[in-house]
Amino acid sequence: MDEQHLRFTVKLADWRRMIQGALKHDEESKAVANFNMHLMPENSSLMPEMAYCQRDHDWEFAWNDKGHTVMWKVHDPKSMEVRDFIDPSLKKKWEEKWATAVRTVNPTPTEDGRPSRYILSMFPYPSGNLHIGHVRVYSLGDTLARFWRHRGFKVIHPIGWDAFGLPAENAAIERGVDPRTWTEENVAQMRKELQDLGFAFDWNREFSTCDPAYYRWTQFIFLKLFEAGLAYQGHAEVNWDPVDETVLADEQVDDDGCSWRSGAKVQRRLLKQWFLRATAFSDSLYSGLQDDSLQGWRDIKAMQEHWIGKPNALHFHMVVVKADRVEVGNVTAWSLIPQHLANPAVLCLKPGHFLIQRHGNPREAVQDLWAVNPLTGDRVPIVVLKDGEHGIQYPAKTDSRLLHPQLLSEEEEVLSNYLTTVLRWTSTGESREMSIDDVIRTLKAKGSGGYWSSPHLRDWLISRQRYWGTPIPIVHCPDCGAVPVPPSQLPVALPDQGTIRGKPLPLSQFQDWVNVSCPKCNRASRRETDTMDTFMDSSWYYLRFLDPSNSHQAFNIDAVRPHLPVYLYIGGKEHGVLHLYYARFIQHFLESLGMVPCREPFRHLCVIGQVMAETFRVETSGKYLPASQVNRTETGATEKETGLPVEVGWEKMSKSRRNGVSPSALLEDVGRDTLRLLVMDDAAPRSERKFSLHSGIPSALPGLERWQKRLWQTVTDLVAVRSSESEASPSRIPDEEFRRHEREMRESRNFHVGVVTYEMESTLKVSVVIRRLVTFTKRLRGRPSEVMQRSEEFEKALGTLLVLASPLVPHLSCELWEMMSSLPPRHTSSHFSWDRTVLEQRWPTVDGDYKVGLTIKVNESNRGTLEYAAKDLEDLSADDALEAALTLPGVQKSTAGKTITKTRYRFFPGFKAVLHISASS
Ligand SMILES: [Zn+2]
Repeated sequence: MDEQHLRFTVKLADWRRMIQGALKHDEESKAVANFNMHLMPENSSLMPEMAYCQRDHDWEFAWNDKGHTVMWKVHDPKSMEVRDFIDPSLKKKWEEKWATAVRTVNPTPTEDGRPSRYILSMFPYPSGNLHIGHVRVYSLGDTLARFWRHRGFKVIHPIGWDAFGLPAENAAIERGVDPRTWTEENVAQMRKELQDLGFAFDWNREFSTCDPAYYRWTQFIFLKLFEAGLAYQGHAEVNWDPVDETVLADEQVDDDGCSWRSGAKVQRRLLKQWFLRATAFSDSLYSGLQDDSLQGWRDIKAMQEHWIGKPNALHFHMVVVKADRVEVGNVTAWSLIPQHLANPAVLCLKPGHFLIQRHGNPREAVQDLWAVNPLTGDRVPIVVLKDGEHGIQYPAKTDSRLLHPQLLSEEEEVLSNYLTTVLRWTSTGESREMSIDDVIRTLKAKGSGGYWSSPHLRDWLISRQRYWGTPIPIVHCPDCGAVPVPPSQLPVALPDQGTIRGKPLPLSQFQDWVNVSCPKCNRASRRETDTMDTFMDSSWYYLRFLDPSNSHQAFNIDAVRPHLPVYLYIGGKEHGVLHLYYARFIQHFLESLGMVPCREPFRHLCVIGQVMAETFRVETSGKYLPASQVNRTETGATEKETGLPVEVGWEKMSKSRRNGVSPSALLEDVGRDTLRLLVMDDAAPRSERKFSLHSGIPSALPGLERWQKRLWQTVTDLVAVRSSESEASPSRIPDEEFRRHEREMRESRNFHVGVVTYEMESTLKVSVVIRRLVTFTKRLRGRPSEVMQRSEEFEKALGTLLVLASPLVPHLSCELWEMMSSLPPRHTSSHFSWDRTVLEQRWPTVDGDYKVGLTIKVNESNRGTLEYAAKDLEDLSADDALEAALTLPGVQKSTAGKTITKTRYRFFPGFKAVLHISASS
């Protein structure tokens, strides 16, 4: 028998790597696969500890873990490098050794005059555990915060908890615990996970939005809005979930009209609700999107514009009266032709309009209700018409339209005739036109609105009839009406939660809490029992992070001024519309009060793409299956148990789709640095990340581990060579060759410093940075030992590589840096601070004489490149660049006979400069 046995003991994690590495190996060399190895674990339900490799025609590894079978074909198992990764136990030891240093690298920035970089990742909702999407967002934020710290900036990198809200309350009810307890437990769990991952947050800035010390100021901002006439009570027809007993946003109602959460059929109810008059800022919010400081907003800008709508309608309020002139309410109306507002008008309402609903039979409403024209005091008849009825057209998403019958066009003859008949209208023939400015001035003076907004934009309905939120600080007095709680009495704290007994407890059930005396007249009154939409809590948290322990103010303007607008805001696309809109609204409002120094809160926006994974659905039932229950062949996939055909797709990772990967399990398996690389690798942050798994492990893993191994090997080789006796031996390679090595390494170092800095600063494409560092490492590998011994360039390049890698793999970089810094002698002592950790090194810059290019584009076509020494390009002004560009024949030719209308000069230090010339004839 030609039989051979290999015996070795490995851990499960190592096995996964080996098999993955081998598959990769096979793919790369399809030509010969002569061996089949059989790996037969003694007990397939346990970790395979022993392997027998049997030699016949082929070698084949079969490994059984959770039902997977993996085949492994190789040419020659002995020659294969099975351990192309750093010993996991060694790595784990390093990560523990450096954990504190890595996690706490960010000292609280003091006011030392350094420029600031506020790197903000959207704070999480404390749902219990981090998911992979969180890890993607926070890994990017942490990497970029480290990058800016190396650059010498004062980096603000805070974290906190978006802790109020319905999901927490419902989860607490289900478990029979207090929402506060549930939330605090989750916060503790997730804080630990974030710390385990090694993210260097400013923990001294941490808070939860459910802390009274925070929501006290949310209430304060509400009172400021109230004072400014921007918080008001109105009636609105709302989506009412009869099971959860709360109002739902439109997005929370599915296509069948059921609640996304409880599944109950949603009812329409007319309720008195609190609104914030966000529409009053829509002109400012719309035009603010054109602010030059906004970068990376791209499609988000379009989404915001779409949501806000073109502010082309003047909004104003109309008092509604009955026949006896008794006021019954207030409506907001709008006009595209406000200069005609003083003319006789008719207010057309859809049957669903809250006013009509409140007053019973819609047809009767026409006879006994009038709106009052705020300009003239005239009574305006109200007509109820469905969309299209008698020729009326309402703009999309509106339920009212103010018409001036004598101004209707010929196309609207049907409508004109109808109004004339039903209202016995007789045209006076004269048209009263006012200047728009006069109209606005008069409306504002009367407190009747007078601001531009799109017809469809609604005010922000913030009332929630639930316990777990910020209480609205209002007292309802029978005499004084809605009275604000004096700021000195804030916070209006939530009452302690009693037993819940599986039912929601709205604030109205806490009688001791509800019954208070009126702050104005002392009469027995009742507190407002609605709490605020959680979007209100998250609308200003980034300001509080800058002054988190201020007990006298929400924040001090001097504390926030140096750090605003937020330099970089990172988060999921699902917050691209509402959260950004509300946060911008509050910032615009605070700016109007002089409380913040700028109108736009966020400069760069990085909207992170979703993490996707393969899903498996049984075709007949639509049931999701975990990968382990699926058999895949070239022709398709089937369910293992039943043999039913399975549809394979890519969807967002989630528990319900059974395609999730738990970050904590991955962390245990691959360690901190590799996990960071895994979530940032492969796709640009804004793109979807397809997280493909091969036999249960991420496909990208072997490559990323191989890179770290090479990095480690390079440092280890250097240490070995330098420590060996041969150091003193005379040179064995020709000088010329030695110099060639030096030149190549110098070139590579400069190139990689330039490109990595550019990607980190300008494109945020950390995935590209990873690829660049892999290449840079390859460029340093395999240099002759004499070069490693003697070359200053080699040491400089390797030190630089470790600093460049430090934001991505901080633990590994720390360890390797320590190994290097123990070496004698130090060729590049002036280049690095060898007595400090890699975390404290200055970011490398390119050599002053390194050549970089200035590219000239005329009408977006390349017309030539000029080469400059990096230090000279640094001094080049936009005018200098244009002057130099015009000496190039290509530029001369393409601008001949044309006028240069615009130039735009962009300079990326150490990497490139681009001059854009627009020329037209
Ligand atoms: Zn009162």
